[in-house]
Amino acid sequence: MSGKRALPLAGIALAAATCLGMVIAGADLSLALGVAVIWLGSLWLTLPAPEAEGPRINAEQASRDATREMIESLSQPLLVLEDTRITLANAAAREALGAHILGQDARIALRHPDAMRLLEMGADEGWGDSVTITGFTGGRSLWQLTRRRIDKKRWLIELSDRTAEADISRAHTDFVANASHELRTPLAAIIGYVETLAEGGAALDEATRTRFHEVVLREARRMQSLVEDLMSLSHVEAEKHDRPTEPIDLTKLTARVVGEVASIHGRDRLVTIFPDDDANVLGEVSQLEQLLRNLIDNALKYGDPAKPVAIRVSHALSGATTLTIADRGPGIAPEHLPHLTRRFYRTDPGRSRAAGGTGLGLAIVKHIVERHRATLDIASTVGEGTTFTVCFPPMPAAPASQLS
Ligand code: ADP
Repeated sequence: MSGKRALPLAGIALAAATCLGMVIAGADLSLALGVAVIWLGSLWLTLPAPEAEGPRINAEQASRDATREMIESLSQPLLVLEDTRITLANAAAREALGAHILGQDARIALRHPDAMRLLEMGADEGWGDSVTITGFTGGRSLWQLTRRRIDKKRWLIELSDRTAEADISRAHTDFVANASHELRTPLAAIIGYVETLAEGGAALDEATRTRFHEVVLREARRMQSLVEDLMSLSHVEAEKHDRPTEPIDLTKLTARVVGEVASIHGRDRLVTIFPDDDANVLGEVSQLEQLLRNLIDNALKYGDPAKPVAIRVSHALSGATTLTIADRGPGIAPEHLPHLTRRFYRTDPGRSRAAGGTGLGLAIVKHIVERHRATLDIASTVGEGTTFTVCFPPMPAAPASQLS
């Protein structure tokens, strides 16, 4: 019994007791009854008036509309089913599956054996049953569908797009497999040559032994470069959200790196074009040095050895600072250009390995560029050569004393 109905009953009981008391006390019965009726009437007037039916229905409707609006705006695709009919599909669900699904039987709308299995699970089966479906929205897409009970007739179906997570995990697995393969190759060579030297080295002539030692040293250096590049890559990747804050004069830094490279490869193949004034960018010295070294090394490695590599720092009208490294040589075919910054991607694996390449140089460059909020452009013409352009955003003015 509700509180609102208990109050009049208590009032009636009290009125009856009052009436009885008055009669026992010798009052006239009609007077006692009159007092009881007046008392009950005033009690009735003080009771809260019952709500009208209309406003209650309106409040329920408003709450349903608010819930519907909230579900509609959620970024996760959601369906509400009544038995198996789709009675609500929010905007994200309509975008993923098409607007036509509204009102359809979910078994037809979702049309996948695993989705069907989820829909046909017994009504009493676990709360939050889910299935993972490959190719649900085509291609390599991967979705997780979860069914939750709302009430006796209605179900909520949550659709979670797991494609990006699956891609990341696949890329991770591929990377580990590639890195292991790259390390295993020189390691196998080292073990093979060292075993031969240990077991039958005495029987080999001096020239052969020297050649074997050279191979062991070369392969060990290859492993060392690979390990160093793997460490650099993981370092820049870990810091990618953290923009460097140090003001650096790119002209001075480039001149220093060119000097170091020239001391190994000779000055003849390097031409520099620098602006008269400072070319300041916000950066991290060691990473910018690595970017310069990787791009200059590649230009020397893959460019025509008889032609110079041009290294230029310049100011763009927008206030940006631009670094270009251009070689003249065989160039790169257009179909390779979009993939060059992928880890271990090589247009000519034999040539890259023979030149001591790890296949990670441009992947490292790409991450350094991203961390510096810069852009990387690769332009190449087969038979003419390749130009790498890094464009650094303008930086706020910094005190000259802070420039390195
Ligand atoms: P690698 O260690 O193989 O040089 P990178 O990541 O530095 O690896 O470069 C990836 C690939 O891009 C190279 O294997 C090569 O095929 C190509 N490449 C890079 N720079 C040049 C260039 N300047 N000219 C022609 N090809 C280049």
